[in-house]
Amino acid sequence: MGKPTGFMEFERELPADRTPAERLKDWNEFHLHMPEEDLKRQGARCMDCGIPFCHTGGLFKGMAAGCPVNNLIPEWNDLIYRGMWKQAYERLAKTNNFPEFTGRVCPAPCEGSCTLGIHYPPVTIKNIECTIIDRAFEEGWIQPQPPVHRTGKQVAVVGSGPAGLAAATQLNNAGHLVTVFERSDRVGGLLMYGIPNMKLDKKVVQRRVDLMASERVKFITSTEVGKDYPADQLLKEFDAVILAGGATKPRDLPIEGRNLKGVHFAMEFLHANTANLLDEGEGSSISAQGKDVIVIGGGDTGTDCVGTSLRHGCRSVIQLEIMNRPPEVRAESNPWPEWPVVFKQDYGQEEFQALHGQDPRVYTITAKRFVGDEQGHLKEVHTVKVEWVKDDQGRMIPKEIPGSEKVYPAQLVLLAMGFLGPEDQLLEQLGVERDPRSNAKAEYGKFATNIPGIFAAGDMRRGQSLVVWAINEGRAAARECDRFLMTTTHLP
Ligand SMILES: Cc1cc2nc3c(=O)[nH]c(=O)nc-3n(C[C@H](O)[C@H](O)[C@H](O)COP(=O)(O)OP(=O)(O)OC[C@H]3O[C@@H](n4cnc5c(N)ncnc54)[C@H](O)[C@@H]3O)c2cc1C
Ligand code: SF4
Repeated sequence: MGKPTGFMEFERELPADRTPAERLKDWNEFHLHMPEEDLKRQGARCMDCGIPFCHTGGLFKGMAAGCPVNNLIPEWNDLIYRGMWKQAYERLAKTNNFPEFTGRVCPAPCEGSCTLGIHYPPVTIKNIECTIIDRAFEEGWIQPQPPVHRTGKQVAVVGSGPAGLAAATQLNNAGHLVTVFERSDRVGGLLMYGIPNMKLDKKVVQRRVDLMASERVKFITSTEVGKDYPADQLLKEFDAVILAGGATKPRDLPIEGRNLKGVHFAMEFLHANTANLLDEGEGSSISAQGKDVIVIGGGDTGTDCVGTSLRHGCRSVIQLEIMNRPPEVRAESNPWPEWPVVFKQDYGQEEFQALHGQDPRVYTITAKRFVGDEQGHLKEVHTVKVEWVKDDQGRMIPKEIPGSEKVYPAQLVLLAMGFLGPEDQLLEQLGVERDPRSNAKAEYGKFATNIPGIFAAGDMRRGQSLVVWAINEGRAAARECDRFLMTTTHLP
């Protein structure tokens, strides 16, 4: 522990983000780094707890609490306080293959569980993590490290999101020859085509992919397994397979007018936007410019739609959320170290607030129908407010409030209401069993599906989740796959 009195002496501080006025003019990342001296003080706030809840990842009430990859947080907080950056990087690399992703996009369940958070603002763990890894790249500490020995075994990984990339890295480290199949034209899964540039610069993703390629991980893009490459070929050409195809089936809103022009799934909008930026095109194929935009869904994907619409130059944007507005502080039923369910503004809402002086979200509201003009273009969204009441079985359900109907003008609606699970084609062709939520059935910890030699990880196994859980599962599935191939394993 660097400074025993650090947590009493220093306030929590974060580096200032680029101002909304400035960052709305471009697609660059909005987070900045802190000067080294300030960051040391933040490291000094860590109390090196006897039981470091920050590091002990788990699920409380279905939500992550503590770090899912069990980062050695108190150790690197101490090392940063002492200015030992390289050692801090070495500790970080032990548990997390991609801190440059989690350091940017993770909601930081570690901070939600930090013991300091019981009475004071928690340690700035995520910012410290991001600074360590960015510095490690700048200093040249991260160089390709291909394995010295090869086992002669070949493994296919289907899907190149964080789960697939983590599995591929670990299996390559173990000496297997790994081929990653990706149906998109670029590698990275939702890191590339879901999370927008301003949160995660695509150069940061490509830098890691290039590093993996130089360690001899093979990437085959624009190839969908089950369509462009026969699924039954996998176990003929490879000794084992890891399925990491994500949970990409979006939840629809099948109300009147759903087929009007201008009603899209959020991912259609976000994917088209990133593709246009990366291809240096002349504008996204789905543009919000000059339009009244309604985003349906108050989560992260909805926030990304708000931030992207503002950068397109929309006329207005409103985010509709059916749930109640969360409380300002933890409810009694939501104690530490659970993930704090409290009202927060993410970057998209902050940007809207800076422009319009208010939050773009409207709570306890649902869309009833979409109305179009004679050409079939969306022109209005008809809504009604709801209240949450108990049904006969004691479950909370939304009940419409008569007289609360409201019509919003809209030329673009983005459906960001979550995801239902993995797509069917690949799993059906392989004969992989599904769990009751339609995810690939494979017990956590073992990751083996009903087909010997086929493992499943990430959102495809657990449903739409977080990047950090995908990394956790990719690493652990690689360990079990290595055990299957070699009868024993040294992978963590
Ligand atoms: C818009 C959006 C924003 C998000 N923001 C955050 C965030 O800020 N922080 C956070 O922690 N999490 C965020 N998430 C969640 C996070 O991105 C996912 O939980 C994570 O990416 C899951 O990783 P994965 O590797 O399991 O799957 P994915 O990242 O979904 O990758 C799966 C890949 O498999 C490919 N694929 C599927 N089937 C096949 C096939 N048959 N053949 C070849 N390739 C195939 C897909 O094209 C895709 O590239 C966000 C999600 C969305 C949708
Ligand atoms: S819980 Fe917070 S104070 Fe305790 S070791 Fe972890 S980061 Fe440090």
